[in-house]
Amino acid sequence: MATAVVVDTHPLDGVIRAERMPHIWCPGCGIGIGMRCYAQAILESGYPLDQHVVVSGIGCSGRVAGYMNIDSYHTTHGRAIPFAIGLKLANPKLIVTVFSGDGDLAAIGGNHLIHAARRNVDITVICTNNFNYGMTGGQAGPTTPFGAFTTTSPYGNPELPFNFANLLAAAGANFVSRWTTMHVRQTRDDILYAFNKPGFCFIEVLAPCPIGFGKSNQIPDGLQEMELYRERCLLADGIPMDELGIDLREDQPIYVGRFLDRDPPPYKPVNVEPSQ
Ligand code: SF4
Repeated sequence: MATAVVVDTHPLDGVIRAERMPHIWCPGCGIGIGMRCYAQAILESGYPLDQHVVVSGIGCSGRVAGYMNIDSYHTTHGRAIPFAIGLKLANPKLIVTVFSGDGDLAAIGGNHLIHAARRNVDITVICTNNFNYGMTGGQAGPTTPFGAFTTTSPYGNPELPFNFANLLAAAGANFVSRWTTMHVRQTRDDILYAFNKPGFCFIEVLAPCPIGFGKSNQIPDGLQEMELYRERCLLADGIPMDELGIDLREDQPIYVGRFLDRDPPPYKPVNVEPSQ
C-alpha cells in the first residue's frame, strides 16, 4: 500500500516568513501575487538573501515588509523611498527594493517618487496599483481612474489619474514597466531585470482590491478583475507615453509592457568642495 507523502514546506519558505502566515489580506486581493513575484525574483536572483533589503510604506501593501524573510523596513507613510535611498547610499552593494501601494507612493510620497526618479537613484520600486486607498475604506487617490466610483467619489471620479509611465519618464527614471496580477511571469522577470539594472526602476502591478475598489465598480471579486485584465490588456507597442494612462471605462485598452528602458548613469554621491 502506497504511503501518503505529507508536504509541509513550500519552495518560498526561506524567502517568506512562513510563521507569519496567514496574511492579513482580503480574499481576492492581488497584493500577495505581487509579493509572490518579488519573492520568486529574489530566489532566482542568485544574490544571497542578506544582500536584499525591502522597504515598505503604509497601507495594505506595506505589510509586505513584515512577510519577507530579508532585512526589511516598514516605514512611515509616504517615506519608503527616502529610507531606501539612505540604505543604498550607505551601502551601495545592497539590492534595495521599495514595495508599496499607489496611495503611499503617488500621493503622500509623491514628491519623493518624482525626485528619486529625477536623481535616477539605483533602487527598484514595485507599486501595487489598486486604484484606491484600500486599507482606510476605499477612498479615491491619485491613480483612481476617471469616472470610477469610490467612497469619496460617489458620483464618479472627476479627476484624471497619474500616468506613471509618462510621469516617471519625464522625471528621469531608467526603467518603467506595467503588468497586472495576471502577468506573473512578466512581473517576476521585470523585477529580476531591475535588480541588475542601474538607476531608478519602477514596476507597476495592477492588482484587484475587491473590498475597497471592486465592490463600487462592478468588479466585486478578484477573479472578475483578473478576467477584465485578460480581456482588455494589450501589449504597448509603439504607443506614445502620454497615451498610457489607465481608463477603466468600457472598451478602453489597458496597456502593459516595458515602456522605458534606457541607460543614463545612476545617481552617485560626489564630494563637492564648498566655494570660499
Ligand atoms: S482592502 Fe483591498 S488592498 Fe487591502 S487587503 Fe483588502 S483587498 Fe487588499
